[in-house]
Amino acid sequence: MDLGIGGKRGLVCAASKGLGRGCAEALAAAGVNLVINARTEAEITRTAHEIAERHGVEVTPVAADITTEEGRARVLDAVGHADILVTNAGGPPPGDWRDWSREDFIRAIDANMLSAVALMQALVPGMMDRGWGRVVNITSASVRSPVNVLGLSNTARTGLTGFVAGMSRQVAGKGVCVNNLLPGIHATDRADSLDGGVAKAQGISVDQARAQRQATIPTGTYGTAEDFGAACAFLCSSQARFIVGQNLMLDGGALNTTI
Ligand code: NAP
Repeated sequence: MDLGIGGKRGLVCAASKGLGRGCAEALAAAGVNLVINARTEAEITRTAHEIAERHGVEVTPVAADITTEEGRARVLDAVGHADILVTNAGGPPPGDWRDWSREDFIRAIDANMLSAVALMQALVPGMMDRGWGRVVNITSASVRSPVNVLGLSNTARTGLTGFVAGMSRQVAGKGVCVNNLLPGIHATDRADSLDGGVAKAQGISVDQARAQRQATIPTGTYGTAEDFGAACAFLCSSQARFIVGQNLMLDGGALNTTI
């Protein structure tokens, strides 16, 4: 299927590996020229070379922390303008609600809510002026179904979801579609580290913890970065012009609801 976005310009944040990389790969396969970002210079540079070589598009790496103002300024400088924006950053650490300080909450909200808001504020006005744009925010299934140990994530991502619900309707008339993708469990380093946390808490092996978590998913498997990237690329396609302000769960059916 031709997604109709060949030659467009995209920014994918937190993309040297995992879900961000899955999105960058799928957009590059659709012909999008990219700026991609992560903090570790060697990793993001290697990923950019690999994606550019595989898909024959331009990929510019920027090593920066996207959760800081200084990091975002450098990324935005490299981008100039973008037709497509995928916001992403590492998730907050797990813990117990009794222990989190004001600073812990501020850090999580900065990283997983306000960074995405700032990137949209910087890039969406240009998309509106040009009459076309796509934004995908990587949030979490925890927006619809809280994960107890991830209270910082539940909090920050729900804030972003509320912002997008209103803002997406204000920009749709200018050809800009803003949506959120909600990952359930995907096989990335983040999932490995959460498997490790479950293993430690329950005194079981990591394999047992993974089997236990996989058993909660109707597909019986974790998702992959490729699955996730394909959904992201579709939301960025020309065909997705009528999809606005939605929260798409990619969780293998784990959330047991009728609607
Ligand atoms: P991952 O495999 O650990 O990859 C994280 C990527 O983000 C890496 O490229 C990392 O590179 C980069 N990164 C992290 N913090 C960054 C920062 N402050 N600035 C710029 N780049 C940064 O994680 P993932 O599984 O893809 O998860 C992506 C997001 O989805 C996270 O917010 C996670 O909480 C959320 N999520 C994941 C799952 C899942 O099952 N995988 C489920 C629900 C939600 P550097 O370390 O070099 O910066």
